[in-house]
Parts: sequence; C-alpha cells; structure tokens
Amino acid sequence: MCEDHPERSRGVTHHASRITGGMMRFSKLVDYLAELEATTKRLEMTATLGRLFKEASEEDIAPIIYLTQERLGPAFEPIDFGIGEALAAEALVKATGKSKEDIKKLYKDCGDYGLVAEKLINDKTKRLSVVDVFDRLKEIATTSGEGTVEKKTRLLSDLLTQVTGHEARYVLRIPLGRLRLGIGDPTVMEGLSWSVTGDKTLRPQIERAYNVCSDLGQVAHVFKAEGVDALKKIKVQVGNPVRMALAERAKSAEDIVTRLGKCAIESKFDGFRCQIHKKGNDVRMFSRNLEETTAMFSDIAEGIRKQLKAKTAILEGEALAYDPDTGEFHPFQVTMQRKRKYDLEAMTVKYPLRLMAFDLLYVDGKDITGEGYAKRHETLASIITPDDKVQVAQHLVTQDAKEIEKYFMEAITGGLEGIMAKRLDSKYQAGARNYNWIKLKRSYQGHLSDTVDGVIVGYLRGRGMRARFGIGALLVAVYDDKQDKFTTVAKIGTGFSDVEWPQMREMLDKISVDHKPARVEAVMQPDVWVEPKYVIEMQADEITRSPIHTAGKVGDEPGYALRFPRVIGFIRTDKKPEDATTVKEILTMFGKQGKSKVSEQ
Ligand code: ATP
Repeated sequence: MCEDHPERSRGVTHHASRITGGMMRFSKLVDYLAELEATTKRLEMTATLGRLFKEASEEDIAPIIYLTQERLGPAFEPIDFGIGEALAAEALVKATGKSKEDIKKLYKDCGDYGLVAEKLINDKTKRLSVVDVFDRLKEIATTSGEGTVEKKTRLLSDLLTQVTGHEARYVLRIPLGRLRLGIGDPTVMEGLSWSVTGDKTLRPQIERAYNVCSDLGQVAHVFKAEGVDALKKIKVQVGNPVRMALAERAKSAEDIVTRLGKCAIESKFDGFRCQIHKKGNDVRMFSRNLEETTAMFSDIAEGIRKQLKAKTAILEGEALAYDPDTGEFHPFQVTMQRKRKYDLEAMTVKYPLRLMAFDLLYVDGKDITGEGYAKRHETLASIITPDDKVQVAQHLVTQDAKEIEKYFMEAITGGLEGIMAKRLDSKYQAGARNYNWIKLKRSYQGHLSDTVDGVIVGYLRGRGMRARFGIGALLVAVYDDKQDKFTTVAKIGTGFSDVEWPQMREMLDKISVDHKPARVEAVMQPDVWVEPKYVIEMQADEITRSPIHTAGKVGDEPGYALRFPRVIGFIRTDKKPEDATTVKEILTMFGKQGKSKVSEQ
C-alpha cells in the first residue's frame, strides 16, 4: 500500500528560495494543474488556462507554458529533462529515507512516481516559486560530465525535499511526461486570449506571432509584458524555425487552373521537408514538425555552406536520397533510412542526400515572406550554385491544363509523387494551409487519391486472431483545427504486422488514460482511451457519411468516416497530433469524390 513515512530525512539544500513580488508560487500552478486534470471539456480547460495566465506575471508566463506542456523551452529546442523512472525512484529514496524496495512496491501499487512522491512527502511548507522549480529542473537537465547520474539524483532529491506532497506529484510528473493534460498549442493560444478578453478573439494575432517564431513562451512573454499590439514586433529570425506553409489538394489539372489561373508547376518530391537556417557558417535544419535535424543531415549542411551565396538565409526544400552514379532519386523507403540517430557518417556515404530547394523566406538580413512566390523563387535561384548536394526545384509557368497534365505524367513516370502548383503572387504564409500551394498526387485505383493522417485516440482489445495481443483495432481521429478537438474518422484493424501490434500496444499503454481525453469527441467507445499523441498514415477506398464517427458531425447529422481504412507504415514521427489531416480536408476530399453514401462501418 502507498502510505506516509513520517521520519524521512529532509536532505540538505544549497538553493535559496527566491520568491519575489510578482512571482507565482509553484503551489498555485499545481492547484491549476490539478484543476486542469479534472477537466474533461475543452472550453473549461481554456477558461482555466485563462485564469492561470491572468494571474501569472511576465516572469512566470513562459515557464508556466513550458511546464504545462512538459517542456523546458520551445519544442524546436528540446532540452531533455534527463529524468527517467530509475532516477526518480533513486531521488525518492534519498529524499524520503525509504528503501528502494519500498519505493518500488509503492510504485507497483500506484503506477505513477508522482503519486508515490505525494504519498511519502508530507511537508506542508510551500517555499518555491514556479521559476524556482523551472530553474531547478533546467539545472538537472543541463547537468553533464562525470558522475552525471549521481548529480542529477542529488539535485532532484534536494528539490523533492523542498516541496509539499502535492507539489512533489507534479515535480515528478512533468519531467516523466505523465501530466496527461493534453494541452495543445491552440488551447494555450486561446487561454492567453481569455486571460485578457474572456474569449478567444485575440487568437489570430497570437497565432500569427507563433507561426513566425514557433515559441509560445516568447509570444506569451511579449503578450503579457507589452500587450497584444506588441506581438507585431515578432519577426522572422534566423535560428527560430518558421511554422511551415502547407498545401491544399486538387483533383485534376483543370481544377488547378480554375483556382490559380497562371501558376508555377513543380515536381512533388517525396523526401523530408527541410527548413534551413544559415548564419555565416552556422547551418541548422528543421523538419516538418520543427524538430532539429541538423545532426542527421550533415551532408546537406555542407552543401549549403558551399553552394549558398547569401550570408544569412532561411530556405526550404525537400531532401531526398539519390544515386550518385545515375543521378536518380531513390524511393522514399530508401530516403527514410537517413532518419536515424546512429551510424550517421556511414549513412551519408551509403545514401547521400540532395536538397531540392523550393522556397526562400529570408535573405541577407531581410524577411521576404511578404514578397510574391515568383519573386522569392527567382531570388532563391540567384543565390544557389547548383551541384550534387543542393539544387533548385525547376518549374513551369503555365495556365494550360494540358501542359500541367503532361508535367504531372512526366513526374509520375519519373517515380515522383505528383506535382505542386503555386500561386505566383502568393506570400509565404507561415503555418497556413490554403490554395496558394496545391498538391496533385497520383491516385491509386479504388483508393482515395491521398492518404489521411489520423491520431490514435484509443484501442479495442480485439477478438479473433489478435485477441492474443490484447489489441485488435485502433480508434483514430482527425483534427478539428477550428475547435482544437480530435474527432473520430475510423476504426482500423488492418495494416500492422503481428510484430507491430504488440509494439503498438506497449506504446499506447504508456499513454493510456482512464477517461476520454478532454479534446477528443467520439460516439464509439474504445476499450482503452489514449492521449492523442501518435499519428498514423491511412489509405482508404473512399470517405462516407457515418453515424458512428464524429469527424465533421454537426448536430444530429452523421459524421464522416474512412471506408476500408488500412495503415501504411508505422507511426509518422514527423507529425504532431495537430499536424494530422483536418476535418476541413476530409470534407474537401469527400466533396471531390462527388458522391455521398452512408456507411455503418
Ligand atoms: P502536409 O505536409 O500537407 O500535411 P503530408 O505531410 O502528408 O501533408 P503531402 O501531402 O505528401 O505531405 O505534401 C506536402 C509535402 O510535399 C510538403 O510538406 C513537402 O514536404 C513536400 N514537397 C515535395 N515537393 C514539394 C514542392 N515542390 N513544393 C512544396 N512542397 C513539396
């Protein structure tokens, strides 16, 4: 049983607590976290965040946002807490005087080191501020060198001896990634708006700033310190990834011409999207979901240093593995091999990459996202000396559907995925998906012409063959970006191998929750709910109306569902849940089919 231990040792501390005027106590944040934990409705969550942000001072706001999202900084600069379960257990031993066996036994009963800490620590003195705890966790995270584990353990146990039991629950849950609040960026942005207006009206201004700098902590700090108008000051900067512009879909070449008229047609390359930031010889790269990939793609960085004439620049392109002998691109499965964290040197030799650059956002101190696409592309071509590592994607400017069709066929024959059409005068709209860019992909017979990226929100135990795995089907949702909700679109049991199902179950059990997550809307009840975290790519025959799915559901009308869905690949690690296919896209895809059916699937 989990029980208190009154005589635990308190350990010595060498940190002076420094609560000052405006700083929020950590205990206050903890009260809010507990309130958020008990909330199942997104609107309540937003209102609660609004109150929390209102109460926060300008010093507190960024640490509060990072901590509630289980981070120590923006997502593109991940600082690993470096606190695993073993280290947490050891720190608890030190902080409480209990034996390792006792701690392990309690953990077995509670299944959560946060709860173990809460049971064992019964100090009532609230000493620390949010900033204190944030700084301490950061100190632990950045400790390195000889004896790191011991140092980290000591620092964490020191911290645990200065908090109350209730605080300790969160001091451990945050670094262990067990908050399970599921607070997405849109909810944080709306919470910020609520903190001032009591509604979400300021979200567009907040979102614009976020799209440009990708750091909600920075946005919140400026918002809190200087008000909403000051957010305009946040500009594109080398080193801060810009949230990427995305494409809508077309069903045909005519469709493209109708929407764009005269436009630029490029090949659609099937590799990794890269946003590259160059400052002198310093080159950094970010993926589709803004994770840093510099270490993985050192050959491209080298190409940029040699082939890009500008001193400072932000450019985008697609990186693909190619065969140096023939100059041809490898299929995506081969390019995928480059996405690993070991044997990096050997991989650059075995599968060298080439960047097909297609856009320029910033050059020699100037933000050019406001210029038209044609102009940006022209500047891009003028600053690159094409060679093996970096080339500029060529394009055809036309308004002739027949010519587009021909370009498309050639792309497909050349093993590419299709084409991208771009509006000639379009600005680079950070974080936006609209018809400035339109993708036309090859369609497979009997298949939707595009795949759907869905977020797993639960699983069913399964009967029949897969009952032995304890998992037989996934409940998958798409993203409603207007409401920051996940609405279900498929129950899917096809596409994983017998090896993958148990792996999937293990991964999902780590993020299971005992009630429907706050941002999920579903009619169907899975056996196990999971936090919306993992994105999978699905192929389906078509989209149908369905009364048992909630995607696109309005009132009593049926929602939309995938017919005969099957998984392609495993988890899409390059996408966050909020990057999944949106409800709006599902509706567009449904519209393009030109028919409506009701399914009981
Ligand atoms: P999305 O990124 O739109 O959510 P997705 O990840 O499933 O969708 P696709 O639908 O295949 O990707 O198409 C968009 C992606 O195509 C871009 O993010 C980019 O990585 C890639 N791409 C390839 N060639 C080009 C090009 N010429 N211009 C822009 N993007 C391109």
